[in-house]
Amino acid sequence: MFLDTIAAIATPLGEAGIGVVRLSGPAAQSIALGLLRTARGEKLGGLQDHRVYYGKVVDPQTEQPVDEVIFFYAARPHSFTAEDTVEIQAHGSSYIVQRILELLLANGARLAEPGEFTQRAFLNGRIDLVQAEAVIDLIRAKTAKAHQLALNQLAGEPSRVIGRIEAALYDMLIHIEAVLDFPEEGIPDLQRAAMIDQSRELHGQLSAIYDRIDEGRKIKEGITLVITGRPNVGKSSILNALLGEEKAIVTPIPGTTRDLIEGFFQLQGVPIRLVDTAGLRPTDNPIEQIGIERARKLLDQADLVLFIVDNGAPFSEEDRAIAESLADKPVLLIVNKTDLPAQLDRAALAGFQPFETVELSVVQRRGFERLEKAIIDRVGLGKIRLDDQPLLNSVRHKEALRQALDGLAAFREGMELSLTEDLLAVELRAVLAALGEITGKNVNEEVLHGIFAQFCIGK
Ligand code: GDP
Ligand code: ZN
Repeated sequence: MFLDTIAAIATPLGEAGIGVVRLSGPAAQSIALGLLRTARGEKLGGLQDHRVYYGKVVDPQTEQPVDEVIFFYAARPHSFTAEDTVEIQAHGSSYIVQRILELLLANGARLAEPGEFTQRAFLNGRIDLVQAEAVIDLIRAKTAKAHQLALNQLAGEPSRVIGRIEAALYDMLIHIEAVLDFPEEGIPDLQRAAMIDQSRELHGQLSAIYDRIDEGRKIKEGITLVITGRPNVGKSSILNALLGEEKAIVTPIPGTTRDLIEGFFQLQGVPIRLVDTAGLRPTDNPIEQIGIERARKLLDQADLVLFIVDNGAPFSEEDRAIAESLADKPVLLIVNKTDLPAQLDRAALAGFQPFETVELSVVQRRGFERLEKAIIDRVGLGKIRLDDQPLLNSVRHKEALRQALDGLAAFREGMELSLTEDLLAVELRAVLAALGEITGKNVNEEVLHGIFAQFCIGK
């Protein structure tokens, strides 16, 4: 439990229907009571647990009303933070909510740091780390699917599944440590065989979760498509057509796209980030050079590169240079301007197979269905199931799970090779430590800080 009481505005600043100010900690009730009054302006003796009140916030110095408010008190441990909590809903002007926050701070509360409410919920054991991460994901969810994924995670489904696996591992560890105390006995053969079976079974369960992490990451973070190709092939036009808006400036003058332009759209409920590069032409212009450097980095991170060539022009040296630079990347080749008489040498292109090809005409709006289908196939969106969502979804989860899997495999081999019990116990503890990194039972300050620093204040 924490000794101080934190306060923050929990809703975005600016004009809104309502604004919420949140207070959590041992003195939440007494601090709030300093400025809360009934609708008639009378002081309240105390707040009932889980009751919603209608009343006023006043400046306690003058008893001048600040706003009419709805407020709510939740006594520990039955609140989000597992601490005494008061939430005050005021009219949404940023002046009013800031004034209420000031009065709470003057009355003894401390301004909360970003994510501190969620961090307290975690440190007080109300939620685990996977659930805390889900709170950020929920705030950031761009699509219905990403939202559903975060809700499942917050409801604790991944934590329960991992918890069951942890319990089974602890059970094995206890048996092994019991033998450590009486080494002359050793692990009975039957039990050894059962443990080998069980570690194989648990390995299978963890592998199944591991295999779907990338799918989860795609739902959550979206997919990055990078458009590249020499100037004037129609990159900006394709970006606009896919986004359905005029985000990029389309001009017939080569090289007008100086900087990177990006936008989001959805395919099958997955957010797709689409970035138009300036092309990769060598240049002396320092501004263009910065753009080219950024474009190169993006191309390295892309889930899929859309490489555009012009059907109405011969395949040039510049096209060839770009094609060669993409040799080791996931590429979809788009032949644009199929409405123009063909001048493109398809034989030259054949040298760059296995680029899968889509024929397109932005002007005639032809080929877009095939393009979307090709994107869906290439980035594996077709494999994403809505009914049965992946349990975990971040690089952090993936690294920890990889270690758990390696440790479990080493443990099973050790069992099969009849290694000594103390060595087996070391392997099992390593597996438990890796799983503990996911749920937060075993996680260092730095990782925690990194996670909670991503929050906004008031969450
Ligand atoms: P970027 O430099 O690669 O971004 O190319 P833009 O999108 O700016 O397009 C260059 C020129 O090609 C513009 O004049 C577009 O109108 C034209 N263009 C784009 N797509 C097509 C197409 O499918 N057919 C024809 N005929 N012209 C196109
Ligand atoms: Zn452009």
